Amino acid sequence: MDIRTQKTFEALFALEDIRETLRQRLPNITSPEEENTIKESVNRVRKILDDIENYTGTPEVRKIADNIDIRSREETNINIQPIQAAGRLTPEARKALIAYGDGYSTCDACRKPFRLDKISSPPVAPFHEQLASFVNMDVARVVPGARRGFQAVASTLVNKGDSVIVSALAHYTEFLAVEGAGGIVREVPLNEHNLVTADATAEKIEAVKQETGKSPVLVMIDHFDYQYANEHDVKGIAKVAHQYDIPFLYNGAYTVGVRPVDGKSIGADFVVGSGHKSMASPAPSGILATTEEWAPKIFRTTQMTGDLTKRKFGVKEVEMLGCTLMGSTLLGMMASFPTVKERVNNWENELKKSNYLIDGLLAIEGSKIVSEYPRKHTLSKVDTIKSFDLIAQEHKRRGFFLSDELSSKGIVGEFAGATRVWKLNTYGLSWDKVRYVVDTFQEIAEKYNIHVNREENSND
Ligand SMILES: *Cc1c(COP(=O)(O)O)cnc(C)c1O
Repeated sequence: MDIRTQKTFEALFALEDIRETLRQRLPNITSPEEENTIKESVNRVRKILDDIENYTGTPEVRKIADNIDIRSREETNINIQPIQAAGRLTPEARKALIAYGDGYSTCDACRKPFRLDKISSPPVAPFHEQLASFVNMDVARVVPGARRGFQAVASTLVNKGDSVIVSALAHYTEFLAVEGAGGIVREVPLNEHNLVTADATAEKIEAVKQETGKSPVLVMIDHFDYQYANEHDVKGIAKVAHQYDIPFLYNGAYTVGVRPVDGKSIGADFVVGSGHKSMASPAPSGILATTEEWAPKIFRTTQMTGDLTKRKFGVKEVEMLGCTLMGSTLLGMMASFPTVKERVNNWENELKKSNYLIDGLLAIEGSKIVSEYPRKHTLSKVDTIKSFDLIAQEHKRRGFFLSDELSSKGIVGEFAGATRVWKLNTYGLSWDKVRYVVDTFQEIAEKYNIHVNREENSND
């Protein structure tokens, strides 16, 4: 870690120590010892600030609570890790984490009817309305990850033995949500371009009906899948699902929060998004949005009465287990939301950077793109079997030579040791960083005598 980053963390930690003294004192009274502690801490912070300014000092704090390393991956590197890119926090989210870190911090002003999505201070209730309109649906809830959105829907709609249509590229959490509800996944095969089509979905529904004598109870398809990040025809698939009277769940884990999503125009009955994957939010967070028609079923309230006490918990929603994201996770999500709402309008520029980087990799002789091309997403799968892997075969570090080379240039996040088929994500990288990454890959290639076709790459 560079000393500036190190010292920035030390300053933040030292300020937290001051904060702790403020928390310990009596209301409005600071004892002489406390004054002293604060003074000492302030002096420490001052010294650290000088170090930040002048690149001086040596690391003094290496761990949090003795055994937790400081994570400075984003401060000290360009991170091209496939699933982390769009979950990086905004500065506002990091501030919210600091201010709302205490356990049930959202509950200070919780009033009747005592439910998370009804809280008006902080503005949790309005946030829920904004979330619903953000994806153009009627009602939304926050959930601990997209997976919990799938789970809520599956647990409502799927009974034992029911079939659920997913794709041959479905995420494992879709499998698990269906399994948990007692259902059975039935996968739509891909076409020759690794795409899920409406026709193939219709055929699969027919096949399942033939075989089981029963219609599938849910169609759940990823707009962009996690393997290739290819775009699938969700609108056409939703239409097919509705022709068979089957509800459609739009999996927007890789879209909600990075590009515009219009649930109504897609024809989605449910829109699921991932906060920590695509909404610059802390984990675990996500959204589940639905229509007026489905909301009463998915967000049904408890009907149970205690046999002894006769207690009832009225408005608590069964699938949400009452309340979901009770503290800084939600506040972080809310704090990022204004930025997230804006940034989806920048998607075209993100795609330009994505394609620029892929073109730069393709200029390295022997490299291929496995995802559809040109790219419609910032996540891509590339094949460097005939380029970087040829070097790995000969190199004493094997596949790790590439991660060694990259990390020495401050680039991390490609799967360490992988030089065959691997994924990367350019989301949110500045043009300067994208150019730097391309230049670095090409320089590594040339260092090992792989030809780089510079012409193809000179059009920016
Ligand atoms: C990441 C991902 C998920 C899981 O999202 P969580 O928010 O972590 O539950 C689901 N589906 C797809 C397609 C994904 O890429």
